[in-house]
Amino acid sequence: MFVILIFLFTTISYGYSEQKDYSRYKKFYVNHANESIYRYMIDLAESHDNLDFWLLARNTSIILVPPELDNEMQQELENIGAVYKDTLLAVEENQICEERCEPYRSKRQSTGFFNNFHRYDAIVQYLQFLAAKYPDHAKFDSVAKTAGGRHLAVLRIAPYRRVGKKLVYIQGGSHAREWISISTVLYFVTELLENFNYYQNYLKGIEIGVVPVLNPDGYEYTHTRDRLWRKNLNFPPGGYCRGVDLNRNFGFKWGYIGASRNPCSEVYSGRLPFSEAETEWVRRYLVNNQYRTKLVIDVHSFGKYLFYPWGYQLGSAPTKATLHQIGQQVAKAIYKYRGTKYSVGTASQLLYKAAGGLDDYAYGALGVPLSYTFELPGSSFRNNPRDIIPIGKETTAGFIEFIKIVNGLS
Ligand SMILES: [Zn+2]
Repeated sequence: MFVILIFLFTTISYGYSEQKDYSRYKKFYVNHANESIYRYMIDLAESHDNLDFWLLARNTSIILVPPELDNEMQQELENIGAVYKDTLLAVEENQICEERCEPYRSKRQSTGFFNNFHRYDAIVQYLQFLAAKYPDHAKFDSVAKTAGGRHLAVLRIAPYRRVGKKLVYIQGGSHAREWISISTVLYFVTELLENFNYYQNYLKGIEIGVVPVLNPDGYEYTHTRDRLWRKNLNFPPGGYCRGVDLNRNFGFKWGYIGASRNPCSEVYSGRLPFSEAETEWVRRYLVNNQYRTKLVIDVHSFGKYLFYPWGYQLGSAPTKATLHQIGQQVAKAIYKYRGTKYSVGTASQLLYKAAGGLDDYAYGALGVPLSYTFELPGSSFRNNPRDIIPIGKETTAGFIEFIKIVNGLS
């Protein structure tokens, strides 16, 4: 009965057209002064599906707490002696205007595309526009079909559309609410195509496959119903909560740790590895190109981290020294633009252990030599549109550094 009631409630609440109201939610910043507080926060994340951990790092965590858990949360933190700060989300983010703001004018007036965040249809049209404008170097494809009936948009970039000996795969937007990851990947492809002559020396023999929005259903949902939605929108058969965390659905050490079997969890791993149309398409694409794929990049926000495998365990990857050194080189290229400092390491060390991400899968199951995850700058999933260009530019510098390195690989 309980299950049926929840099902009815969620179904009805989706019937409203307004956005989910977060005005009474609080954002807690917790200082992990010692290992035991860090461990405690990991336990809390695993045992409380209704606490939304925006960040869970070694030394700090950021948690979104619903009003009904506010007192309990404060009590728990005081009991363990943790130093924390809490603010109303609405107060902290009242300076952020993402949509329908005063028009922000950038220098890149040619399209004005990077003055704002865009809906999925507009992004697809933009990618088609780029492919039509640069037919020698870019091709648009529409692939897979999500639970919501949307297709994934792929842009393939290769000099004179030759089949590259080496493939680079880049994806953004696997978590619906991380809008800046999408605009950043779009900025990169735009920069590359608009200045192709400048970059073409690095691109010889290289093909780049780009999926700026891996989770279009979830992304649209963040625009229409729930700005802080993370997962896709798939309903498991007979389930009462929707959505699979695509970042826990890749089939390497799937479900081993840091993922949940509970469909209501923010880190639900899905029924099976690659149960989702989005991840299954990525699997097929990478398997079909297994031996020429040299670099895989998964873009997320936030925290200024550059991760390499392993995410699922603390033990070192066989080529850890190389992965680390290349990561540092890329972080340095980003730093040069405006001083943004990334931490380079494994997610298992810098955050917590979690299995089912693209980076571990590409490296561990397919032997892709360079496999990384970006967590872009910020302290929220919401960004002012004026962040789009600087974050786009500095991250593009990092991607280009990666491509130069791939160019030098045998
Ligand atoms: Zn993410």
